[in-house]
Amino acid sequence: MPPVKTTVMMELTWRCPAACRFCYLRGTGRLNAGRREMSAAAIERFMRRFPAGTHFYFSGGEPFLRRDIFRVLGYAASRGFEWGVNTGALPLEEAAVAKLMALRPSYVIFSLHGTPALHDGLTGVKGAHARLSRALRLAAALRRPGTEVMTNCVICPENARALPAVYLQAARAGADRAVFEHLQFAGPAAARAGLSPEALITPFIGGLKMDLRALGASIKELKALRGAFRTHLELRPDFDAKELARYYKGSPRPAACPGLTSTVNVEPDGRIRACVLYSAKAGDAASYDAAAVRRAQRALVKGGAPAGCARCCRRYVIERIF
Ligand code: SF4
Ligand code: SF4
Repeated sequence: MPPVKTTVMMELTWRCPAACRFCYLRGTGRLNAGRREMSAAAIERFMRRFPAGTHFYFSGGEPFLRRDIFRVLGYAASRGFEWGVNTGALPLEEAAVAKLMALRPSYVIFSLHGTPALHDGLTGVKGAHARLSRALRLAAALRRPGTEVMTNCVICPENARALPAVYLQAARAGADRAVFEHLQFAGPAAARAGLSPEALITPFIGGLKMDLRALGASIKELKALRGAFRTHLELRPDFDAKELARYYKGSPRPAACPGLTSTVNVEPDGRIRACVLYSAKAGDAASYDAAAVRRAQRALVKGGAPAGCARCCRRYVIERIF
């Protein structure tokens, strides 16, 4: 069997000009809290620990708020990593988009959550949709072979009916892929298991009112767009009606986490947490010890995947519909 590739989920900043309703940084008080962030030099030292071909996923906050962002991304490119970045595009001017695409990332993900009014409402920034659309179009126009331009939409009660409209925007802007990801939230089962907002990164949302009928119809309409554009459609994951109900109204049964020990989750200050959703400390970027991180991860899932794993993005695969 080929060796499992390591994915480093690298959060570069806690700063962001948006205030999305579903943002976990906002929900846990981390957003724009003025916490210390690693310098570009420290990030480079950490990256040097990984061989060429390692997958680095850069996110935030909003990574393009960092003044040294192109130093960090340029370094990733120079090391031969497979790397991509996720942005809400608010600080992205045309020159920055051109600079980014010239670095030939493996992918660029634009967070697109709705039609103009919906997207602006969900992000809390008037004009956010217009800015993102401009940057997305430009990135698609400048894309070179080897780079995928993607959109990612977090499915939530507010945009449940608008998913086909989001796909159409992505497709008309020239995106290669439109990904739709079900909202991550912790429900009563996590609370019953004794998990607090401090233990889990994912926000606790009680009484979520998802219109499952509308969401089901929206997904059906999405799938009917097959063949209309060259833009791939992906759902994370592709639930049937019963699974949808269990996800939003019940307690999806936690499963094992096959990808856990091949993932390293780094916070902007260099703190390494055990996994994408649990905030337990597993190490530090400055004194990175891969074996110690793996030990902390194994300890986390020793008795099987715990209740907080219920709606984790990492345990559901992205399923390509077309
Ligand atoms: S763009 Fe991302 S980091 Fe910023 S508020 Fe929205 S979800 Fe949070
Ligand atoms: S499934 Fe659980 S252990 Fe695995 S990454 Fe998700 S929250 Fe973490």
